[in-house]
Amino acid sequence: MNTIDQYAVFGSPINHSKSPRIHRLFAEQSHQNLDYVAQEVTAENFVTAVTEFFAQGGKGLNCTVPLKELAYRFATQKTERAKAAKAVNTLALRPDGSILGDNTDGIGLVNDLTVNHGIVLKDKRVLILGAGGATRGILALLLEQKPDCLIVANRTAEKALQLAIEFNHSFDGCGFDDLHDQPFDLILNATSASLSNELPPLPENLLAKNGVCYDLAYGNTPTAFVRWGKLQNASKSLDGLGMLVEQAAEAFALWRSVRPDTKAVIDLLNTER
Ligand code: NDP
Repeated sequence: MNTIDQYAVFGSPINHSKSPRIHRLFAEQSHQNLDYVAQEVTAENFVTAVTEFFAQGGKGLNCTVPLKELAYRFATQKTERAKAAKAVNTLALRPDGSILGDNTDGIGLVNDLTVNHGIVLKDKRVLILGAGGATRGILALLLEQKPDCLIVANRTAEKALQLAIEFNHSFDGCGFDDLHDQPFDLILNATSASLSNELPPLPENLLAKNGVCYDLAYGNTPTAFVRWGKLQNASKSLDGLGMLVEQAAEAFALWRSVRPDTKAVIDLLNTER
């Protein structure tokens, strides 16, 4: 049994994950004695890997693509926000041996938008591009901010429509073709298009004057969507590095009962791009 508390991120692909660096910086900053590693785990070997991890004394896990729905099913208890998302990015071993599943993506995004960037969502028109796992994770938290309207547009329109039904029509779902003449104050790109340097097909005049663009994806150079936002004269065109650090901080707080200083870590990672 290890004497240092063990944490990990599971996913596939995982070799470029920044999570080990972020959590080690949090640990250093808050004087916590722990280790955090990245482990390549596919959907096929998820249950074996996660069972082994906790059997060997592991304290907590992050799960990323393509494992968030499997992690949701694995957890024996779930937070309300995990239940709303039906996806889990954080597993925590509880003192009674149960495994708690949480989803920290939504609070990570909202903290980055509202705290780090001072963006107000109340009464604003918000558009989410994409209807995959990330969108599931952020919807409940965005709705809590009481935007004037929230629309989810997806390449496969049917998936956005289904999501709207699942969330009791608290927002509208549509395809990209249905977006026209309705400028938004905030456009969130939650598609994985940026990962292949692609841009969803977006009409002209989609962004309101002084509007903000935010790509959940991030990279060492501006993503295709961040570049698009700048071309649309967005007041801010941001990527998801801040969200990544903020969602990690929520997981760290759940595991260690210590809230790390995210600004110091975001600033450091920004200097390393
Ligand atoms: P999923 O695979 O679950 O969903 C992908 C979504 O992207 C689907 O809606 C899909 O549409 C759409 N899509 C894929 N390619 C294209 C394309 N070329 N043009 C238009 N739409 C496309 O992925 P996730 O939801 O888990 O992740 C989405 C993004 O969010 C990723 O870039 C991921 O890195 C990022 N992310 C960032 C986080 C952070 O902390 N910063 C946290 C979580 C996610 P369709 O349904 O038609 O296939």
